[in-house]
Amino acid sequence: MESELTSAKKQLASAAKVLDMDGKVLKTLSEPKNVLKDDIPVRMGAGDKKYFNAYRIQHNDALGPFKGGIRFHPEVSIEEVKALAMWMTWKCSLLGLPFGGAKGGIIVDPKKSSLHELRDMSKGYVDSFSEFIGPDKDIPAPDVYTTPKIMSWMLDQYELLVKHHAPSAFTGKPVELGGIQIREEATGLGGFFVCNDATSRLKLKPKSTTVAIQGFGNVGFNIARLLHDAGYKVVALSDSRGAIYNKSGFSPEKTMTCKLEKGTIADCYSVGSVVSDKGKLITNEELLELDVDILIPAALGNQITLKNADNVKAKLVVEMANGPVSAGADRILNEKKAMVIPDILANSGGVTASYFEWVQNNYGYYWSYTETYEKLKQMLSNVFETTFKNSNKNKLSMRESAYLLAVDRVAKAVELRS
Ligand code: NAD
Repeated sequence: MESELTSAKKQLASAAKVLDMDGKVLKTLSEPKNVLKDDIPVRMGAGDKKYFNAYRIQHNDALGPFKGGIRFHPEVSIEEVKALAMWMTWKCSLLGLPFGGAKGGIIVDPKKSSLHELRDMSKGYVDSFSEFIGPDKDIPAPDVYTTPKIMSWMLDQYELLVKHHAPSAFTGKPVELGGIQIREEATGLGGFFVCNDATSRLKLKPKSTTVAIQGFGNVGFNIARLLHDAGYKVVALSDSRGAIYNKSGFSPEKTMTCKLEKGTIADCYSVGSVVSDKGKLITNEELLELDVDILIPAALGNQITLKNADNVKAKLVVEMANGPVSAGADRILNEKKAMVIPDILANSGGVTASYFEWVQNNYGYYWSYTETYEKLKQMLSNVFETTFKNSNKNKLSMRESAYLLAVDRVAKAVELRS
């Protein structure tokens, strides 16, 4: 299977070709500027010391300080983090944010770690990389299995080391430490705005539009809830342990209540209030191939590949996860005339909210929820419109259009600095 880094490099290479990019600039953009690695010592519950591999990859900072999340996951790899860092560069650029791209990770299964171990690991991460982090250098945020609480520990350790308050060194913090209310739902909300813009272009009416969502965590749940409330029919949902389908649609809120109670979506199948008699259990693979109008991968990378792209029936694919459609699969979906909203646009609500948080921390002045909501909506709709117009005008897919706009801006900034 093609790795995320291979996909990311291919996407850059094809944008570079169309843009007739200078060879030196392409070389700069093909590799991260800084690859930071360390082994973090953590005193485990049993008293023994264990080392955890940690990374911070800083891809490019021509447009501003590096920005990107930190994930805690057993399958974190340096290659994957490199791809994710590159995608952050394009995402920030596409949105017009004054940031470059970065990503970080620790190879750990947080589900098997105690609170005490997670705290030491989070603080250890900051000890390792504090020299390279900061409001004007690199601003981390939460990602897969990292939380506002983890950002609190990281911020605390950072402030201890630099000996002054620096709330804008991390985003995705709890509200009490300078975080913003909208952050928790921002990625789902951004995806919802973009989805609405796309369905109106495709002339799909919410009431007769069916949606399948892979992944029922922060992003999957929030976009499911917002689409359901707007009248869309959310007919399939999944988590890592299984998927459920009901052609009459689900209430995401009720499904989440059940999942929290039972632990998995699949175990909610038998609950009458959540899944009607017409519902059924399906596999995660089947969910991706359902005959629905909108497919939303909101779990992991590399889910739609050369193996299953031919069987995808959705007219609209909204990439809420990072890199869920491989480069080869993307070609097939384009041939099938499906509209694919690329991750760098679809899931950019999170980093846009992080940008708002950073601005507010720097100013020490905080906006209301409504003000933040409206700013997020306006920013994403403007970027959707620009990307859509560019795609129509130049006969490009939405991904090609987004990449050309994003990569061009970074390439120009790199050239201007050289
Ligand atoms: P999360 O940990 O809250 O949820 C992930 C969900 O995916 C869980 O429900 C998990 O059970 C499910 N899952 C895992 N493997 C699966 C599989 N094989 N099939 C189906 N479901 C599976 O994570 P999240 O914050 O919702 O992030 C989801 C994706 O969105 C990730 O790719 C992340 O990088 C991306 N993303 C998140 C944000 C954010 O703000 N949270 C921002 C941008 C991108």
